[in-house]
Amino acid sequence: MALAFDEFGRPFIILREQDQKTRLRGIDAQKANIAAGKAVARILRSSLGPKGMDKMLQGPDGDVTITNDGATILEQMDVDNQIAKLMVELSRSQDYEIGDGTTGVVVMAGALLEQAERQLDRGIHPIRVAEGYEMASRVAVEHLERISQKFEFDVNNFEPLVQTCMTTLSSKIVNRCKRSLAEIAVKAVLAVADLERRDVNLDLIKIEGKVGGNLEDTELIYGILVDKDMSHPQMPKQIEDAHIAILTCPFEPPKPKTKHKVDIDTVEKFETLRKQEQQYFDEMVQKCKDVGATLVICQWGFDDEANHLLMHRNLPAVRWVGGVELELIAIATGGRIVPRFQELTPGKLGKAGMVREKSFGTTKERMLYIEHCANSKAVTIFIRGGNKMMIEETKRSIHDALCVARNLIRNKSIVYGGGAAEIACSLAVDAAADKYPGVEQYAIRAFAEALDSVPMALAENSGLQPIETLSAVKSQQLKENIPFYGIDCNDVGTNDMREQNVFETLIGKQQQILLATQVVKMILKIDDVISNSEY
Ligand code: ADP
Ligand code: MG
Repeated sequence: MALAFDEFGRPFIILREQDQKTRLRGIDAQKANIAAGKAVARILRSSLGPKGMDKMLQGPDGDVTITNDGATILEQMDVDNQIAKLMVELSRSQDYEIGDGTTGVVVMAGALLEQAERQLDRGIHPIRVAEGYEMASRVAVEHLERISQKFEFDVNNFEPLVQTCMTTLSSKIVNRCKRSLAEIAVKAVLAVADLERRDVNLDLIKIEGKVGGNLEDTELIYGILVDKDMSHPQMPKQIEDAHIAILTCPFEPPKPKTKHKVDIDTVEKFETLRKQEQQYFDEMVQKCKDVGATLVICQWGFDDEANHLLMHRNLPAVRWVGGVELELIAIATGGRIVPRFQELTPGKLGKAGMVREKSFGTTKERMLYIEHCANSKAVTIFIRGGNKMMIEETKRSIHDALCVARNLIRNKSIVYGGGAAEIACSLAVDAAADKYPGVEQYAIRAFAEALDSVPMALAENSGLQPIETLSAVKSQQLKENIPFYGIDCNDVGTNDMREQNVFETLIGKQQQILLATQVVKMILKIDDVISNSEY
């Protein structure tokens, strides 16, 4: 593309290989972009809420993902429309900032686009629509702040945190176990949280999964989990107050180099060699014992003879531990990785309150739990489940719950879910529209209408009459001036979200509105789309 000027000095654009390019301008461009954005939002709409549907996505190499997490669905979908990619980006940034609310934000953006289209049809300029949206979003965000509530919790009373995490989990496949999973998530976050600085490092929470068992068997481990077992079945399965030697040197005598030659032609010579080897092992074991190690974790293997000897000398050992895991163990237990036996000293041992081996199922699969480590608050959430897809989805759901708990530690404010907050904002924005004299007030009203789309989708997905339900709840909110009434998705019998304990974080809701508005404004401001029609 190049800019040129004709003989009268008027600028024009030269498109290279013009026949291969398509170009949309003005209102056509906006219409096409809005259509693309709406198409993406429509896909996610049916996944919103506790009765939302899941999507099954097949990857390029045939692997299947089943999920109802907005960010994951969009991530796995192969979109190549540029505007659709913006929606993917939108969901991703909500995921990145907040962790939850990734479906809602796209539904919201879709509704804003739909309303914008109507305003454009009325002849309102896209910039005026964008400005009206901006004003409306400010009103909505301020109103959320006003209706939000703070709750108090501490390490001993974390029930409110659990309740909020349960709201997040209730819209997932795992909602059967939402109570126990929410408790696990909250305990994990509290274990690594710095409550004074209101900071949580989620990197310290590892999520592992193993196929088998039940979702109910999912557990929280105060330490790390290694997919290895003791090298000998008769070694102790449980070591209290373990002092761990972390070795990257092989547990065996030095191998003869290819240049050397050992001639063994008599029994005596063989015997001496064997003795020497044995002695070599013995010294190594002794060295470990001397520095006080009660467990050896080795990057390399050792042969059966060494294994036998280790068992005899009562020094439990784990072999073939990968480099990454070894590093993790070293960091968590405060030990140092030892590359040579000569360098082993008591100071380099890692310490853990408890190391135990646990076996699963009939396949004799075993795992090593290293708990109550000296140096680190790291915890592991160990997920069990019927199949790989279930475990993957549980991981994603737990991630959402962890993020929600973290957000609450950062900011204790909550708003009510089930569309209650959106309805309250919609009323507030609608009321604010009257104060604006300009054309923007149409856009502000449209924004209010778009906010209704979230409760509407929740009602629709739960098999309720969307318009009737929404207007009933809305009039209830308006009449009693209480922002707690939302959609009763689970047919509990009350619209009061306080009673149902459906909470969402204030910052999550605010972020949803801000991000959705931003993207929609951006899409509305595009009036020229030049693309290669090859694809
Ligand atoms: P997201 O990816 O946006 O978090 P979800 O599928 O998790 O999407 O749905 C979240 C929506 O469902 C929120 O608006 C939340 O308030 C609502 N919700 C969750 N649990 C309930 C419930 N028990 N009753 C009514 N609404 C609920
Ligand atoms: Mg959610």
